[in-house]
Amino acid sequence: MPLVDSKAMLIYAMENKFAIGAFNANNMEIAQAIVEAAEEEKAPVIVQISQGAIEYAGENCLFSIVKSLADKASVPVVCHLDHGVDFNTVIKALKAGFTSLMFDGSSLPFEENVRITKKLAEIAHAAGVPLEGEIGKVPDAAKGPLSPEEVQKYLTTPEEAKEFCEKTGVDSLAVSVGSAHRMKVQSARLDIERIAKIKEKVKVPLVLHGASGVLDESVVEAIKAGISKINFATELNKAFTNALRQKLTSDPDLVDVRKYGAVARENVKRIVREKINLLNSAGKAEEVLSFISKNDYFKRYIDKSAIVE
Ligand SMILES: [Zn+2]
Repeated sequence: MPLVDSKAMLIYAMENKFAIGAFNANNMEIAQAIVEAAEEEKAPVIVQISQGAIEYAGENCLFSIVKSLADKASVPVVCHLDHGVDFNTVIKALKAGFTSLMFDGSSLPFEENVRITKKLAEIAHAAGVPLEGEIGKVPDAAKGPLSPEEVQKYLTTPEEAKEFCEKTGVDSLAVSVGSAHRMKVQSARLDIERIAKIKEKVKVPLVLHGASGVLDESVVEAIKAGISKINFATELNKAFTNALRQKLTSDPDLVDVRKYGAVARENVKRIVREKINLLNSAGKAEEVLSFISKNDYFKRYIDKSAIVE
């Protein structure tokens, strides 16, 4: 079916206390693994492309891959821009056809983040596409360990989350609640109390970034406390690269890209299926699709045939 936007999908997840998996695709094999896993698990899914991936492969190339996979899929698929960090990248993704966007102004001063996010939300909404914003800052583990003071400084407060949502009109909100980007070991515990307090103040679905480094039981608690979209990137990169490395080491004469690409793809698919089950979105495709068809928030779809009567 044609790509769908993320608005109704995330609201349904929020109301029904499960989370949508948002998986980063950096190449064709990873995108295929994500959509195939979602189909096998009958799960709604978000394939996301980061600003870094756009710089690597180009927005039109990656978008076309996700779109063609979605067109053939039996489950609803969203193509989301992950961490657009400047105005032009978000506009570029919108023009390319992305059905969900993110502007990450979390490194900017509050008022500046509000100003740009609000402007982009207005533009995106006029085109029928939802926008995710970020307040507080999800730190980057690749830049070295953080001191407890730094972690505290980055965390989202319920008050600023409320003010940010009211001033910008974002459709979903990424919050900093104890996870970090690019963690290679699954060891972080989230601030569940903070998530619950933010949830009390904020009406839009909450998004957890950097989930690759979070313990499974903490992910489950976070969903109960109010997280509705969970991003996984590093774990997929790890799964792809580890399988590839193993295959090439065990078979040093192998030169056929398709042979080792398929092995890496299978390993990513295995991880995505595990995450879909952890998030409790397995088997939810049909009900999500039915909710989407009855709640066209932007009165527009990329293609009306996405609507199930
Ligand atoms: Zn992120």
